[in-house]
Amino acid sequence: MATPRITVRPKQSLGQNFLIDDNIARNIAKSLKLQSEDIVIEIGPGQGALTRHLMSSPKRLIAVEIDARAVEQLRSTITAKNVEIIHQDFLDISLKSISKKYDTKIRIVGNIPYHLTSPILFKIFDEREAISDITLTMQREVAQRITGSPRTKEYGILSVFSQFYGIPKLLFNVSPNCFYPKPKVTSSVIQLLIRDELPGDVNLKLFHGIVKTVFGKRRKTLRNGLLYMPFEKEVLENIQNSTDPVFIKRPEELSINDFILLTNYIQQLLD
Ligand code: SAM
Repeated sequence: MATPRITVRPKQSLGQNFLIDDNIARNIAKSLKLQSEDIVIEIGPGQGALTRHLMSSPKRLIAVEIDARAVEQLRSTITAKNVEIIHQDFLDISLKSISKKYDTKIRIVGNIPYHLTSPILFKIFDEREAISDITLTMQREVAQRITGSPRTKEYGILSVFSQFYGIPKLLFNVSPNCFYPKPKVTSSVIQLLIRDELPGDVNLKLFHGIVKTVFGKRRKTLRNGLLYMPFEKEVLENIQNSTDPVFIKRPEELSINDFILLTNYIQQLLD
């Protein structure tokens, strides 16, 4: 195991668990099968453990790092012409404008801070038209939620949105020993191909509202969980009186397609 010297003192508040296993970094980079025309954004390059394995192939690698100490170090050590190191919060980057600038969809990769997994994913879903695929290293437990199937305890909000907007695949697990400092949990590398076309035609705002609300009341049947939606009395009554068997199910029993049908059914009541 080659251990790059850690000179940036890790800050827990920035989720800094630096990768110290060069084989894992190489395998993550390899899994992208980078092409010479690719435009890649790396989220949180840190000291560049992964960056070094990514930079030789793509047309452009844009590494977005929030920590000034890491940015300074990266800029002094990585000078390849196709690599741009941006000192910014990834959540504030416009993926759409980068995609527009290069006239292509972007590929995203990163060993991301655990506490930012959901905000990063939701940003990507929001700007999905700009993105072709993402390869992220995250807590194994979150990766299992992303790939979770109906009727399992992992299945929830992240599963529905990840599988609605993309096609997720768990690539491999990474031991805590591969990071410094050593995290308490195992990590997983997950790849998500972003769909060009969504699996259903649906009012996205309503779809998001329904999925979040009913999983927020996970133990309740849909009939009861949907009472927490801000609908007019008439709509709520209609749901309460409906004989459609879907309403006596719990959210974890619904497939992605069932959620699409449910949203469209409720949309009709609202129209
Ligand atoms: N990629 C490096 C590696 O594998 O060793 C670092 C991984 S570390 C888990 C996460 C990195 O994300 C840190 O370098 C941290 O400073 C950076 N980071 C944290 N929040 C960020 C944000 N909002 N935008 C960009 N980078 C961020």
